[in-house]
Amino acid sequence: MKFEVTILGCSSATPVFNRNPSAQLLNCNEKYYLIDCGEGTQQQLTKYNLKAARIDYIFISHLHGDHYFGLIGLLSSLHLNGRTKPMQIFGPTPLLEILEIQFKYSDTVLRYPIEFFPIEANESQQIFENSDLIIKTIVLNHRIPTTGFIFQQKQRQRKLIKDKTEEIPMAYYSALKKGIDVELPNGDILRSEEYTTPADPPRCYAYCSDTLYDESYFPVIKGCDTLYHEATFMHDLLDRAIETHHTTALQAGEVAKINGVKKLLIGHFSSRYKTLQMLLEETQSVFENTELAVEGRTFHL
Ligand SMILES: [Zn+2]
Ligand SMILES: [Zn+2]
Repeated sequence: MKFEVTILGCSSATPVFNRNPSAQLLNCNEKYYLIDCGEGTQQQLTKYNLKAARIDYIFISHLHGDHYFGLIGLLSSLHLNGRTKPMQIFGPTPLLEILEIQFKYSDTVLRYPIEFFPIEANESQQIFENSDLIIKTIVLNHRIPTTGFIFQQKQRQRKLIKDKTEEIPMAYYSALKKGIDVELPNGDILRSEEYTTPADPPRCYAYCSDTLYDESYFPVIKGCDTLYHEATFMHDLLDRAIETHHTTALQAGEVAKINGVKKLLIGHFSSRYKTLQMLLEETQSVFENTELAVEGRTFHL
């Protein structure tokens, strides 16, 4: 089952050459989940050949513009392009009012419904579940209420071994995939273990947008397979990071190390850095398996 994320933006605060504000597209089992929607997200989707019309779920971490200024444009374009299916949006409570007032004064009545799910940033909670995923919030420590999101795959069923199951009536597949042995009318037993292989272990992706280094959110992300964490500044600007409620590259590595994640992606880079190699090296000095979450890269989770 596909479980991957494509980075659409990795800049903090303002766009700079080749770096857009925060946005990521998660593809889980061919369903699209948009995580944050900074200015320019529509263009980024087009550039990387990802169809905006396929997005059914949008998650906004907080109301700083670099995380949602692309949303009204995206929603408007979907309307103009004839969308009729609902869009589910998860974000801070005032976001709905912000959207409504923009639609009101542009005299726009959307052709499709928005289903809005307000998020309170006081405790981690489950906000979504379908057959593939459970999604929970991560309460972060920023200047305004902010949550990250954790995308936890569900345990899949065992996989049929094609060569062995061709002779067996399909009616037995469901039980075998669930790990249940089947007794045939003649008394023979079909053992699930002989006809199936274990499912891939469920994986987990945590998205921590803007936050001060703060151990209070560690329990939620502990042991996650892949962690995206902001790394706005180099550690020599720790004072600036604390003042603006951001994390340094070194601290992002510490978050990954302390919480035993397998892989770390860093992003949300300050526009002061013309190249990003220094940030990567600083994080890798603490946590080796780190990569830059830069535009256009797709990571298998
Ligand atoms: Zn930001
Ligand atoms: Zn912010």
